[in-house]
Amino acid sequence: MKQRNQSSKIILTLAGLFLLFSCSHQRSEKDDSATVQKEYKAPNIILLIGDGMGLSQLSAIYYFGEKEEPSFERFTHIGLINTSSSSHKITDSGAGATAFSTGKRTFNGAIGVGPDSVPLANIPELLFAKGYLSGLIATCQITHATPAAFFAHYPDRNNELILASQLHRSPIHFIAAAGYGYFIQETANYLDSLRDKGFIVDTSQIKVPDDIRPTDRLIFLTEKNTVPKVSEGRGDFSTSAFEAAISYFQKAERSFFLMIEGSQIDWGGHDNDADYLISEMLDFEKVVEAALDFAEKDGNTVVVVTSDHEAGGFTLGANEKDTSYSSHDNIVATFSTTGHSASLVPVMAFGPGAERFAGIYNNTDIFEKILGLVK
Ligand SMILES: [Zn+2]
Repeated sequence: MKQRNQSSKIILTLAGLFLLFSCSHQRSEKDDSATVQKEYKAPNIILLIGDGMGLSQLSAIYYFGEKEEPSFERFTHIGLINTSSSSHKITDSGAGATAFSTGKRTFNGAIGVGPDSVPLANIPELLFAKGYLSGLIATCQITHATPAAFFAHYPDRNNELILASQLHRSPIHFIAAAGYGYFIQETANYLDSLRDKGFIVDTSQIKVPDDIRPTDRLIFLTEKNTVPKVSEGRGDFSTSAFEAAISYFQKAERSFFLMIEGSQIDWGGHDNDADYLISEMLDFEKVVEAALDFAEKDGNTVVVVTSDHEAGGFTLGANEKDTSYSSHDNIVATFSTTGHSASLVPVMAFGPGAERFAGIYNNTDIFEKILGLVK
């Protein structure tokens, strides 16, 4: 009995110690979460859009690229999106990018406006209110449909002069693309409007000045109205622009949203030119790799790769005359349209919150998921 009492005492003491430990443990957990709360830094968000990139375009990397393990294998969460617009089953890039930038489906040809042509708030505008800076990189002119949907609001994508005239009103801080000519217009010089808003305009090189001030914004515009094809001497435009953007945002010491478009994958699709398409995919893969390398090192950066729609009805099939499977080692790249197609397109995500992007959903959900990454 006595012994029993003693052991109950021991048990009680142990229970007390356990309670004490668990209380102090709880307290320290609370302290930790308070510290985490205080130190919360909104994640950087890099959205890469392979314009016209369907699953066959992505697959082409495996058969026509040099890497055994393309960077796309580093993504941890994969999804598919339905890309239809409010007006058509098959979207154009204006409505496709507006779905991403504003979370609303709109009609083909629209830029940053809803089906009623009323302007909708876009991601850079909404995140600027939360302390973010935003940047845009495109391998075409900045006034082209996809990048324009992240700064402009107009019902007609073809009026690139009007789209250019709206850039200085947006909260974008970093740009690297083509389109110089669209800003020098008969009635106004919109490069001067950009300078008035604190932009340093550079048409000769992609380089962040050493003496850049925190209030400076940067726009690199190639003098031609489009960025050359990879096959015609683009060089390292995409990765240089990416490195410059990262250097700019790190100097600014602010969380950032960066949209990078691999613009000409789509143009290869429209041209039904497999070599053009594949060389653009390989260029896009390099900037995806750079983004993943940065995100991995940084630890607080989310990388999302997706596409606004598939273009060209591109397939990687065997020779159509072969019914014996004997030529199934020869891939024949074929196209079924010079327009876009209705195929679902891939979404790949890496970094904190990447799990949000898994599943099959609508293009507009990309907007919701991106905003959901920010507290
Ligand atoms: Zn297109």
